[in-house]
Amino acid sequence: MGRRRTAGGAGCDGLIPSHTAAARLTSPRGNITVASIPVAEPGAGEVLVRMEACGLCHSDLFVASLEKLPLVPLTLGHEGIGRVEAPGPGAGRLAAGDRIGVTFLATTCGTCEWCLTGRERFCPRQLNFGYTVQGALAAYAVVPANALVRVPDTLPAAAAAPLCCAGWTAYGALREAGLQPGQSVALFGMGGLGHLAIQYARHLGLRVAAVDVSESKLEMARTLGAEMALPAENAGRALQKQWGGTDAAIVLTGSPAAVQQAFRSLKRTGTLVTSGLSTNQYELPIVDTVLKGISIRGSYLGTRADLAEVFRLAQSGVGCAHIESHSLDEVPVVLERMRRGEILGRAVIEFQGKT
Ligand SMILES: [Zn+2]
Ligand SMILES: [Zn+2]
Repeated sequence: MGRRRTAGGAGCDGLIPSHTAAARLTSPRGNITVASIPVAEPGAGEVLVRMEACGLCHSDLFVASLEKLPLVPLTLGHEGIGRVEAPGPGAGRLAAGDRIGVTFLATTCGTCEWCLTGRERFCPRQLNFGYTVQGALAAYAVVPANALVRVPDTLPAAAAAPLCCAGWTAYGALREAGLQPGQSVALFGMGGLGHLAIQYARHLGLRVAAVDVSESKLEMARTLGAEMALPAENAGRALQKQWGGTDAAIVLTGSPAAVQQAFRSLKRTGTLVTSGLSTNQYELPIVDTVLKGISIRGSYLGTRADLAEVFRLAQSGVGCAHIESHSLDEVPVVLERMRRGEILGRAVIEFQGKT
C-alpha cells in the first residue's frame, strides 16, 4: 500500500495510505460490502479525517432500502468520530489534529429561512453524510468541513459516536415534545435512540414509560430508570389505564403500529412526536386528533445547541450509550442483526490505529 506525505501538522504522523477500507453500498437495495477505495486529497472546504469510531444507525438500513440513491457507490455512516488528518484549502476553523464528529448533516446552504433561524436541519439544499455525500464508515474519509461538530477529547470515541445521530435525535425529539419537569412521556422503541432518550428524559425530570417488542430491551429500559416498561401490543390502552395517558409520546422507530399505539397512549391535548424513519405510511383517527386537541409533530435531529448539550451531558455521565464494539469488516453482519432487532443499545465500529 503506497503512502504519501500530507500537509498535516500536530496530531498526525504525516503519512496517509493511498487506499482505505470502507463499508459501501454499490447499488440501490444492493449488498453492503467492505471494500478498499482510494483516499482522495481533501479539496476546497474539505478535510481528511482519520476515523476513530462510527456507530451503525437504522437510517443506514433505511438508505440501503431505498429504490433510488443519489450517489452510488456510497460509503455509509453518519455517527463518526475522528481527527482531522489534513485540512484542504479553505477548511476554515479546522486544523490538523482537531477532534470532530460526523453527523447526518453534511452541508447546508446558510442562506435559506431555516438556515438563518437556527433550524438548518430543515434546509432544502442540505447534503447528508452516508446518503448524498460519502459517509464515515471508512478508516479515512474526505468530508466537507462545513457542518462537522467539535468533540471533546475526554470522551472515548466509541462512546461519543452514537451521540452524533442517536443521541442528538433522541434529545431533539424530547425537546420537540415541549414538556415540563414532572410531566410524563412514553418512548416507543428502545433501540439506539430509545435507550439514550430514557436517560435524557429522566435528566429533564420527566416520568418515563418505555415501550418495545423485545423483552431484553424492556429490561434494559427498566435498568436505565423507566418507571414503566411495556410490551408494544396494547401499550396505548395500558398507559391510559395506569397513568390516565401521557403528556407526550415519542416514536423512535419507523413502525406504523408504534405510531398508532403512541397516539392511543396520549392524554387529551397531548403531543405525538415521530422521529423514526420509514417508507411506510400511518393512519390516525381524525376525530380523536381534533376532539382531544392532539398535536402531531415530526422531529429530525435537533438544534446545534442540542448537539452541544448532548456532548456536554455525556461528559457529566448523562446519556451514556450502551455499546457493542465491532471491526469494520463486521459491518454487513452487524447491520443484518440490527435489521432483525438484535442489537442492544448501539453497535459501534472501532477503527485500528486510533489516536
Ligand atoms: Zn442515524
Ligand atoms: Zn439552507
